[in-house]
Amino acid sequence: MTKEHTSVLCIGAGPAGLTAGYLLAQEGRSVRILEQDSRYVGGISRTVEYRGFGFDIGGHRFFSKSPDIEQLWRELLGEDFLLRPRKSRIFYRGQLFDYPLRAADALGKLGLFEAARCVGSYLAACCRRYDQPPAHFEEWVTRHFGRRLFEIFFKTYTEKVWGMKCTEISADWAAQRIRGLSLLTAIWHALWPQSDAVARERTIKTLVHEFHYPRRGPGMLWQTTADKIRAMGGDVCLGQTVVALQWNQGSGQWTVTGRSALGETTEWYADHVVSSMPMPSLIGVLEDTVPEPVREAAAALRHRDFLVVALIVRERQRFDDNWIYIHEPHVQVGRIQNFKSWSPEMVPDPALTCYGMEYFCFEGDGLWNASDEQLVTLARSELVTLGLAEQADILDGVVVRQAKAYPVYDEGYEARVAVLRNWLEARYPTLHLVGRNGMHKYNNQDHAMKTAMLTVKNILAGKCLYDVWAVNQDAEYHEESLAGEDQGERWVPRCVS
Ligand SMILES: Cc1cc2nc3c(=O)[nH]c(=O)nc-3n(C[C@H](O)[C@H](O)[C@H](O)COP(=O)(O)OP(=O)(O)OC[C@H]3O[C@@H](n4cnc5c(N)ncnc54)[C@H](O)[C@@H]3O)c2cc1C
Repeated sequence: MTKEHTSVLCIGAGPAGLTAGYLLAQEGRSVRILEQDSRYVGGISRTVEYRGFGFDIGGHRFFSKSPDIEQLWRELLGEDFLLRPRKSRIFYRGQLFDYPLRAADALGKLGLFEAARCVGSYLAACCRRYDQPPAHFEEWVTRHFGRRLFEIFFKTYTEKVWGMKCTEISADWAAQRIRGLSLLTAIWHALWPQSDAVARERTIKTLVHEFHYPRRGPGMLWQTTADKIRAMGGDVCLGQTVVALQWNQGSGQWTVTGRSALGETTEWYADHVVSSMPMPSLIGVLEDTVPEPVREAAAALRHRDFLVVALIVRERQRFDDNWIYIHEPHVQVGRIQNFKSWSPEMVPDPALTCYGMEYFCFEGDGLWNASDEQLVTLARSELVTLGLAEQADILDGVVVRQAKAYPVYDEGYEARVAVLRNWLEARYPTLHLVGRNGMHKYNNQDHAMKTAMLTVKNILAGKCLYDVWAVNQDAEYHEESLAGEDQGERWVPRCVS
C-alpha cells in the first residue's frame, strides 16, 4: 500500500475524466486517473476490439456546437478525425423508412389513410383545452402530436428503450428529447414542406448528412488522450476501482483507495478529486456519515443498462446505413449499427462486415443475465427475422455489456440530484462532479467534456468561475436542433455568485 500525492485525482478514464486530466497536465498540474476497466479507456465512448474488428458501445458521432471541443478533438486526432457520410433508416412494420424522411417514401409506405388518421388525431389534440401541465411523457406527446402518432411512433420504441411505461417517464424529458424522434418531424415536413431556406439552414446546422468520427472509432481518441497525459507526466491507472474516498479536514486532502482486479488496495492523496463515477456509487464509497435523505436520494436514482451483440457477417451489401432504428415490436433489438459504414477501418477484411445488435435492458433482468451464447443466438435469429442477413452468412458473435449506459429521467430525479449536489457541494469544496453519470445527465461526449473543461478552469482559478451544472445536456441535438437556435450562451454558464 503506497501513498502518493497528486494535485488532482480523476475517477474514471471516460471522456470527462480524460479531458480534465489532459487539460490539467497541460497546465503543469500533477494528475492521476483511476479507471476500473483493466483494458480500455474511453468509458461508454470506448471502442472494443475483437479479432481485428472494432465496435462502439452504440455508434458515437462527433459533433459539437462548442468551438473549444471541436478544437480539442482536432488537436488530439489531426488527420485521423474523419468526416463521414451519415445514413440511417427506421425499420417499422417490415419496411425501411428513409430517415430523415422524404415525403414520397414516407407516405408511400405509411399510406395516405394512416397519415390522414394521424393528422386528425393531432388536430383533435390541438382543439382540446388543458388546465394542468402534462404529468408525464405520454401526456406530453399526446397533447403535442395526438394519440395516434403517440401510439404508432412513440409508445413501442420508447418503452423498448427505457423499459418502463410512458406514464412513468417525466414530461420534462419529453420536452427535451422529443426533437430527436425525426420520423414525426419528417412526416410533418412531408405534409407541410419547409421553405428551401429553412430546410438548408437545418441541414447545415445539424450536419444531418455528415458527422465526424475517428478513423478507428472513439476509443482511438481516448487512447491518444491517455497517451498524451502520460507523456506529460500524468498517471492513467487501468484496473483500479475506487472503493473508498475520505476527506481529511485537517490536512485538506483526500485519501482515495483503489482496488485492483486481484483485490489489492492502494491509497493515494490528492488536493482535488474530479469524479465521473455514477452519483449513487460515489455516495457509496464516501467514508463519512451520510445523512439518510442523501442516502435515500442516491438509492432512488435509476439507470438503464445496455448490451451490444457484435455479429461478424459476410458482406452482401444488404444495407449501408450507419445504423437502423428498429421500431418493430416483435423483436427485442432496438437499433442495429453497421460499423463498416462508420469507418472502413473498423473491419479488417472487406469481404466481411460487423453489425452491432443493440439491446436495452436492466442489470439483472433476463437479457442481461442471459449467457453470451444465448444472446448471440437471439441476435442472429433477429437479424435473419428482419431480413437483413442469411443465417449461413453470420460467422461469429461477441457480447459486450454496459452497465449504467443511460441515467434515467423519471419522476423526481431532478430533486434527488439536487439533494446530492447540495450536500456534496456544501461539505466538500474540492470534490468536483463531472460527466454523464457523474452528474446524472443524459448527455453526449462533448457535454461531458465541457463539464470537465469548466471544472478545470474552476480548479485553476481556485474558485467557482463557471456553473458546471448549467452546461446544456440536450443529447439529441445531433438530430434535430432547431434552425436559428443559438446555444452558445449556455456553453459558458457563469456562477451566480
Ligand atoms: C448507446 C449510446 C450511444 C451514444 N452515442 C453517442 C454519440 O453518438 N455521440 C456522443 O458524443 N455521445 C454518445 N453517447 C454518450 C457518451 O457515451 C457519453 O456522453 C460519454 O461517454 C460520457 O463520458 P463520461 O466520462 O462522463 O462517462 P463514462 O463514459 O461513463 O466514463 C466514466 C468512467 O468511469 C469509470 N468508473 C466508474 N466507476 C468507477 C470507479 N468506482 N472507479 C474507477 N473508475 C470508475 C467507468 O469505467 C468509465 O470508464 C452515447 C451513449 C450511449 C450509451
